[in-house]
Amino acid sequence: MQILFLGAPGAGKGTQCKRLSKHLDLAHLSSGDLLREAVKEGTPTGLKAKSYMDKGVLVPDEVLIAMFEEKLARPECAKGFILDGFPRNLAQAGSLDQLLEKLNKQLTVVINMQVDFNLLTERICGRRTCGNKECGSTYHIKFMPPKKDDICDVCGSALTKRSDDNEEVVRNRLKVYEKETEPLIEYYDARLILRTIDGQGDVDEIFSDILRTIKVLV
Ligand code: ADP
Ligand code: ADP
Ligand code: ZN
Repeated sequence: MQILFLGAPGAGKGTQCKRLSKHLDLAHLSSGDLLREAVKEGTPTGLKAKSYMDKGVLVPDEVLIAMFEEKLARPECAKGFILDGFPRNLAQAGSLDQLLEKLNKQLTVVINMQVDFNLLTERICGRRTCGNKECGSTYHIKFMPPKKDDICDVCGSALTKRSDDNEEVVRNRLKVYEKETEPLIEYYDARLILRTIDGQGDVDEIFSDILRTIKVLV
């Protein structure tokens, strides 16, 4: 099964994809997580990406396409995968089509997570992430607070705040989403593989909705 998640920054893609990847035992490929890891490790990809990410604009397409070409060909993706954050514009979507064709695969479903625009900034600015890479649990200071301030419930590591999760950069990221990424909704809807999910409300209920949607299809 090849699943793609669409949705604005803060829509809850990461939160749901992590659960779904465990539930279905599929690889979760988050472009943002992969880029942040590359930046942290100081790889050539990371060095190219950093200044764009700091500003909240898209990293050049060729960087992402090369990264996903390499990841999708890995053995852990053979039985399927969940894409989160890639593609993010029409050019990347076209390249993904080509990559999938080479691998003799196609997208099973595209889940579009819908959240009111005026909720997104609050969601993003309150986001905290477990600093332990193996865990990576996501919290929210108001909507999903950890039991102990700044400590991960699951593994006890310190929580971190992303440097691009501040209002100024978020404004850019939301603009970029509307201009570049939103057109993908129509792109996939025209292929009849798009399903829109209400991304507001209880996380467990949203997860059940996603599972129901996927089960109908397979
Ligand atoms: P969010 O979903 O909260 O916006 P991500 O973690 O997905 O954040 O992305 C963080 C940053 O990484 C983006 O602002 C952008 O600079 C870069 N990025 C992530 N995915 C892509 C992509 N597919 N194409 C170009 N840049 C990307
Ligand atoms: P994305 O990957 O789409 O950028 P995240 O999954 O990181 O989004 O979620 C953004 C923030 O919103 C996080 O702090 C997360 O804990 C919180 N969040 C996710 N889903 C919900 C929800 N259903 N209700 C309230 N807050 C949520
Ligand atoms: Zn943790």
